[in-house]
Amino acid sequence: MLPTIALIGRPNVGKSTLFNRLIRRQKALTHDLPGVTRDRIYGEVRQSERPFALVDTGGLVLDEDQNFEKEILEQAHEAIQESHAILLVVDGKGGLNPVDEQVARDLRESHKPVLVVVNKVDGYEKEDLASEFHALGLELVPVSAAHGYNVPELLERVSAIIDELGFEYGDEEEEEDRTGLRVAMIGRPNAGKSSMCNAILGERRFIVSDVAGTTRDSVDVTFERQGHRYTFVDTAGLRRKTKISDDLERFSVLRSLKATKQAQIAVLVLDAMEGLTVQDKKLVSILDREKTPFIVAVNKIDLAPKGKLEEIKRYFAEQLRICPHVPVIYTSTMTSAGLGGLLPLAEKIWAECQIRVTTGVLNRTLQDAITRHQPPVIKRRRAKFYYLTQTDIKPPTFVFFVNDPELVKSSYSRYLENQLRKSFGLKMAPMQVYFRSSH
Ligand code: GDP
Ligand code: GDP
Repeated sequence: MLPTIALIGRPNVGKSTLFNRLIRRQKALTHDLPGVTRDRIYGEVRQSERPFALVDTGGLVLDEDQNFEKEILEQAHEAIQESHAILLVVDGKGGLNPVDEQVARDLRESHKPVLVVVNKVDGYEKEDLASEFHALGLELVPVSAAHGYNVPELLERVSAIIDELGFEYGDEEEEEDRTGLRVAMIGRPNAGKSSMCNAILGERRFIVSDVAGTTRDSVDVTFERQGHRYTFVDTAGLRRKTKISDDLERFSVLRSLKATKQAQIAVLVLDAMEGLTVQDKKLVSILDREKTPFIVAVNKIDLAPKGKLEEIKRYFAEQLRICPHVPVIYTSTMTSAGLGGLLPLAEKIWAECQIRVTTGVLNRTLQDAITRHQPPVIKRRRAKFYYLTQTDIKPPTFVFFVNDPELVKSSYSRYLENQLRKSFGLKMAPMQVYFRSSH
């Protein structure tokens, strides 16, 4: 459990540059990968005295056409609700901007800890650039995300904020003993998340019911089922609905993302009758990109007209083809259809996430795969694979050592990934593959 820190700011101020600098490990690893998206939005900062989870809200943009002023205010609003502290990134070279002032005003009123990161201060001699930002009335730290200037100072200040918050880092194993498998129900309002939690809980008594996280209405519910312990994390839906304003009810991608990070498995609940909306699609692609283990529950199938269920299933299969490994179940909280399989499925995926494969088996699989289907010739050269190794679990992560990663195009990379999935029984979990040159 890490404190969540959100990066907000106007476009082009350097949020993603800063994000990449702080998330050092992942960047180094992705550096020589062909065709891998660099725009991660969630990362863990471990180089700091107090580790934290960093969310780049710039990556959460839902509506591409929206004007950015409105958008950054919404980002700020979401960040205030969902994070422990906020880094407002501003452009030191560009100078103070009216939008920065407006955002700063909202942030001051929220009483959340905020650091204004004055970026593009590319060295000590440029520190003057920061002075005009004192007008924002918030604590400042000048940095250069591109060159690394003063970044250690930034990390120290963030650590100090985390200390002031009194954040308690739980021990992961202890946490797991206490909570069992942690499951997050996510999705748009009214899809049926709380009904689903309630239907699964039934009359069973909660063992623990405590308030966790930073949102006032976020509740974790722990229960037992056939000798196994489970926790529904951040079950916002279990609160009393009537008192919550529309504003809080609105779909929050940041909230969903944060809940998935606190959980081990996410269940994306969709309304069978509404189909996959643009927001749902955005969330699916984020979950896929972030390698989150998840299940899609297409709910309210009791409302489907007779004989239409097959058509609905075809529609969702087609819509979700970007993540073919993700299991889709069809549920109704009214009739209980499909609900019995949910927790066993979550257990299975979690077990897959922890698969470890020995080097011997890995390399036999690699040889078989290459023999069966040679890498294509690209510009008169062919990728030559040396060996394969597993570097991590949760998700299972495999690194192929190859003469030149540029020669591995996405279709061949997909082929290899599928071969690994078949050979190791990785049917539903996310997995990560990297191609590295070995000189
Ligand atoms: P974002 O839209 O806020 O995520 O901004 P980016 O990280 O994409 O950066 C926008 C531009 O600012 C890019 O051209 C970066 O190279 C540049 N930039 C980012 N950080 C620095 C910095 O510390 N110094 C300078 N001079 N340029 C920077
Ligand atoms: P949440 O906002 O995602 O937590 O959604 P709720 O659980 O509050 O459900 C929203 C509405 O959909 C409520 O009126 C529920 O009674 C209804 N609902 C939930 N699940 C089902 C279902 O499987 N079938 C039908 N017909 N209605 C459902």
